[in-house]
Amino acid sequence: MSQEIAEKHNLKDLELSYSTILKEVGEDATREGLQKTPHRAAKALNFLTKGYAENPADILKSAMFKEEYSQMVVVKDIEVYSLCEHHLLPFFGKAHIAYIPNGYIVGLSKLPRVVDAFARRLQVQERLTNEIRDCIQSTLKPMGVAVVVECSHLCMQMRGVQKQNSVTTTSAFTGEFLKETTRKEFISLISSRLH
Ligand SMILES: [Zn+2]
Repeated sequence: MSQEIAEKHNLKDLELSYSTILKEVGEDATREGLQKTPHRAAKALNFLTKGYAENPADILKSAMFKEEYSQMVVVKDIEVYSLCEHHLLPFFGKAHIAYIPNGYIVGLSKLPRVVDAFARRLQVQERLTNEIRDCIQSTLKPMGVAVVVECSHLCMQMRGVQKQNSVTTTSAFTGEFLKETTRKEFISLISSRLH
């Protein structure tokens, strides 16, 4: 099956599932406002999980450059939109990434794309954080990688405990960032509000 046909096939199955969901929540799936909802919802979910079809390591490899620069490179405030795998509800916030080059640097726009490739899957924030770190470490092989992710989870905010303003922070480090001084420098860089 070609990828395009497989996608259409997948979309049809998702549409049927969403029609069932509409009925199960007590809706009339045939009323005007809902007629195209299964189609729209299927397309939306397809988009929100398109990371499964992407290879984050290849994204990095497509823009690696030999360079002598050996200071910390920090990209902060990268937007994160993902879906929690326990409730299929969104969690969203910011990711901050740093690495210390070891002969190679990477095109800066590739780091947000790596975040997206992992975030556009069903996730937990802890695994998302580790996957970003591991991908950069194994592909770019820098002296160290640091990843901090701060997200709000709608599964907490809209239901259950309803701690409206709580933010979950996760972090993952390798190499030089396992040293407290390097990690502190990174944390102070991402904490400053000066742009
Ligand atoms: Zn959840």
